[in-house]
Amino acid sequence: MRNRFLIRPSLIFRMRLLIASALLLLSPLLQAELLSLRGDPAPGALLIGQAVPGARVWLNEKPLRVSQSGYFLFGFGRDDSGERLLRIEADGRHLERLITLTSRQWNIQRVDGVPARTVTPPPEELERIRAEAALVRKARETDSDLEFFHHDFVWPASGRISGVYGSQRIYNGKPGNPHLGVDIAAPTGSPVIAPAAGIVTLVHEDMFYSGGTLVIDHGFGLSSTFIHLHSVLVKEGQQIRQGDLIAEIGASGRATGPHLDWRMNWYQERLDPQWFMGGMESGQVKAGSR
Ligand SMILES: [Zn+2]
Repeated sequence: MRNRFLIRPSLIFRMRLLIASALLLLSPLLQAELLSLRGDPAPGALLIGQAVPGARVWLNEKPLRVSQSGYFLFGFGRDDSGERLLRIEADGRHLERLITLTSRQWNIQRVDGVPARTVTPPPEELERIRAEAALVRKARETDSDLEFFHHDFVWPASGRISGVYGSQRIYNGKPGNPHLGVDIAAPTGSPVIAPAAGIVTLVHEDMFYSGGTLVIDHGFGLSSTFIHLHSVLVKEGQQIRQGDLIAEIGASGRATGPHLDWRMNWYQERLDPQWFMGGMESGQVKAGSR
C-alpha cells in the first residue's frame, strides 16, 4: 500500500510530462495551417502555397481553388501593387497573412522593323484579331484540377533571353502594349519542350499577332502560352509530360526574328515566367534546366 502511494505521484507526473511533450510536438502541426508559400510577391509573380488538407483559402475576398493535399496558387499582374490578405481556414482555426508586393522597374525596348501591318492592323483584320483573342482567352479560362503546377518547371527552350516581361515596347516608333512574356532567341526549327506536364487547350497555326500559338493547362488556372511558333507538334486535348517535344521555334506573327515567347497566366492574369523560374539576369537559358 505504502509503496503504491509513493509510486503514484511520480507516475502521474511522468504521464503529464508525456502528454505535455506530445502536445508540444503536435502544436506546430495544429497551428501551421500554411505549411509553405513559395514565390516573391511582386508584379508578375506566381505564388504556390500548401495548407493542411481540407483547408479553405481566400485571397482578399476571393476563394481560391485548393487541392485535396492543400495546394493552392495565385498570381499578380504587371500593374498590381499594394497588399493582399491571404486567409486560411481549417478545422475551425484560421490564419491571416498579409502579402506585400514589392515594386519592379520596367525597361523601354524599341523594336524596329516589324511588319507595318502588325503595328497598325488594317481594318479588315480587326474581326480576325478579336476572334483569335477570344480563343486564347477561352483557353486561359480553363479551370481544371490538374496538379502539375506544384512540381518544378524547366525552361522550354535553349537560347539567349532577348526580351523580358513588363517592358514598354515601342514598335517602329509607335508605343505598343507592354511585353508580357519572356523571349528566348534561337534559330527557326529549334525544339520547344514542355516546361511542366499538362493538357493542350489550344493549337492555332497562324494568329495575326502571335503566329503559331500553343496553350497548355497545368491546372488550377495556371497555363503556359507559346507564340511565334514555326510548327506545333501536339494536338488539342493531348496530355503531355514535362520535357516532351511540343513545338518548333519560329518567327510567325509580329516578330522580327525567330524566338520563343513564353507566357504564363493565372486565368487572365499575366505572370512573368522568368520571375517564377528565378534568376532575373538576362543571359543564356538551357532547355530542361531550372
Ligand atoms: Zn515576345
